[in-house]
Amino acid sequence: MPQSPSGAEDPRRRIPRTDRLLALPEVVAASHAMGERAVRDVVRAAQDRARRGEIAPEAVTAAVLTSLGEHSASSLRPVLNATGVIVHTNLGRAPLSPAAREALQDAAGYTDVEFDLATGDRSRRGVGARAALLAACPAAEDALVVNNGAAALLLAATALAAGRDVLWSRGELVEIGAGFRLAELVASAGARVREVGTTNRTHASDYREACADPASDVGAVLKVHTSNYRIEGFTSEVEIDELAGIAHEHALPLIADLGSGLLRPEPALPAEPDAASALEAGADVVITSGDKLLGGPQAGILLGRREVIERLARHPLARAVRADKLALAAIEATLAGPVPPVLDALRTSPDALRARTDALAGRLGGRTVAHDGRVGGGGGAGVPLPGWAIALDQELAAPLRTGDPAVVGTVQGGACLLDLRCVPAEREEDLVAAVGAARELLRSRGAERRAEGTVR
Ligand SMILES: *Cc1c(COP(=O)(O)O)cnc(C)c1O
Repeated sequence: MPQSPSGAEDPRRRIPRTDRLLALPEVVAASHAMGERAVRDVVRAAQDRARRGEIAPEAVTAAVLTSLGEHSASSLRPVLNATGVIVHTNLGRAPLSPAAREALQDAAGYTDVEFDLATGDRSRRGVGARAALLAACPAAEDALVVNNGAAALLLAATALAAGRDVLWSRGELVEIGAGFRLAELVASAGARVREVGTTNRTHASDYREACADPASDVGAVLKVHTSNYRIEGFTSEVEIDELAGIAHEHALPLIADLGSGLLRPEPALPAEPDAASALEAGADVVITSGDKLLGGPQAGILLGRREVIERLARHPLARAVRADKLALAAIEATLAGPVPPVLDALRTSPDALRARTDALAGRLGGRTVAHDGRVGGGGGAGVPLPGWAIALDQELAAPLRTGDPAVVGTVQGGACLLDLRCVPAEREEDLVAAVGAARELLRSRGAERRAEGTVR
């Protein structure tokens, strides 16, 4: 650093000192939330900018406060989902209901997850979530919540069929997201997958013959909902009631993996299986999801006959896949609280969506175009949800994605489409502001480029 001219004070001496900045009330409050080290990093970064002459020494305090305001505790950024895909795997599947968010807050500290406050004794873990599940699905005698759907299937296969055969229709050997194959998951439990039937047609006689085959040692029969594809044309499958009859003739448990999380039939998705119907049809244990269509946190929910659920709960693997207190709290609140956003988005009428879309398209200078929504990950495969979207310039898609809040739409036919199905009405102003900011960014970049062009 060059010596400052004699008489003139070195401006760096006016940079606020670290201890003074750390003592500001806002900074003290932020260090409780973010931690001391993160706050010190922010302070040092602002001082360094002043030392390099990028900002005036007098601007350091403001720079620190701005950085602290923008700081978030995790690198996950909130997104406005304008894709029209309700259970979007890449966007965290289900947004939680206000009740579930509040429950997460309450459960974040110490909580009575395994403690009876009245007696002072240890209690069964997650009794509230279990009671809420049984109230929502009276056809189940018992319930167990684990980490996710895959964990539920792993636990059921391990506890009921390790070292033995699992009968499984060849038409139902699902590969789920990121290349995970359910048959490989079941095999990793030490069970042998025994495929029955063909890709398009599986008959009751296929299961019967496999059960009766003296060379086989069947531990369980598995029915898996083809949640992300449909087989059409010359097809047949064996429904749960008939399959339960066959399994029970041979004293075998029937596991039904529904993939999604409907506990009861959903009028908006008549073809989607639900836990109550599967249990009434005779399944011994049903695997459903906490987030996919239940609209709660990530979880795998096992519902079924008391002896079977107890057997699963006692298995050593149950401990390795158990749900944490946050998921248990959020499931209970999702079931007890208002209709979760996932079901709201599913049940939105095309007319209501059209009115919102027209109004916002007018404000944003876009066009209303027909756009089908989708259920997304793990449900309603191929079922279009008729609706609408706002069509804007395609070049807005990238700055919208990287804006704050991030807005994720789809690019189709040379336009950036924003579908309001999964955008809460109370976030519309944020969406309008985000589009304004994205346009502003494009304008200023355009101006920069033009300026460079004239210099050259
Ligand atoms: C999604 C899905 C799973 C896995 O559930 P995760 O909660 O994602 O682990 C299992 N089976 C089926 C049929 C599914 O659709």
